[in-house]
Order: sequence, then structure tokens, then C-alpha cells
Amino acid sequence: MGDLTKNISRHELACKCGACDHQTADFETVMIVQDACDHFAEKLEVGKVVLNIHSAHRCYRHNDAVGGAKKSQHRLGSALDISIRNVLPKDVYAYLDAKYPDRLGLGLYDTFVHVDTRKGKARW
Ligand SMILES: [Zn+2]
Ligand SMILES: [Zn+2]
Repeated sequence: MGDLTKNISRHELACKCGACDHQTADFETVMIVQDACDHFAEKLEVGKVVLNIHSAHRCYRHNDAVGGAKKSQHRLGSALDISIRNVLPKDVYAYLDAKYPDRLGLGLYDTFVHVDTRKGKARW
């Protein structure tokens, strides 16, 4: 059980560089990801899905190290890269795109989906 939401614990939101103490996460982004977890848990008929957070908040150094954009939403703590076990990234992407047609930044990658709560809308 996560200590922030059913699926998410605070430590998972920390920068992955291992050398800083950044762990800011936008509340709405966290709740949107939790809602997607709840949706797919119901679909898969399991009590709780297994959520994997690939990238969360990034300090400057880590953002540069992973080749993030200078103004990456990960720098602001408003982006999460996620995957849900036994759910294809494209299905997570499709769910969020349908639920929030006019907003969010959503990026589809081979092994994860990027979700952010920027002002306005972006898709890639
Ligand atoms: Zn860091
Ligand atoms: Zn991302």
C-alpha cells in the first residue's frame, strides 16, 4: 500500500539520481495516475494494480543526464513516467487521452507513458 495514495508512496516520487533530495510531485498529477490505476484494477478485476514509476521529479543534473528538455515538466515535479503491470502503455495513454481530451501532456513510449499537468495540452 502506498503511503500517499493506494498505489503511490512518497519515496517513489523522488529524483532517481540518488544524490539529491528532490521529491516534489504535483498533487493533481499524482491523483490522475492513481485514478488510472483504479480504472485498470477494476478492468483487470484485481484489488490493486502494480504501478511502476520510471521517472518523477528530476533535479537539474539528473534531467541533463537523461537528456530531458530544459523546460521539462519533470523539473517542475508535474510529470510522471508510468507503466502498469499487465496493461499496455498504449492502453494507459488511450484511457487518459479519452478522459482529458483538452488538457494534460501525454507521451507514449515503448515501455511507459509520460503524464504531466502543464497548462494546456500536448500529445506525442
Ligand atoms: Zn537528483
Ligand atoms: Zn516524462
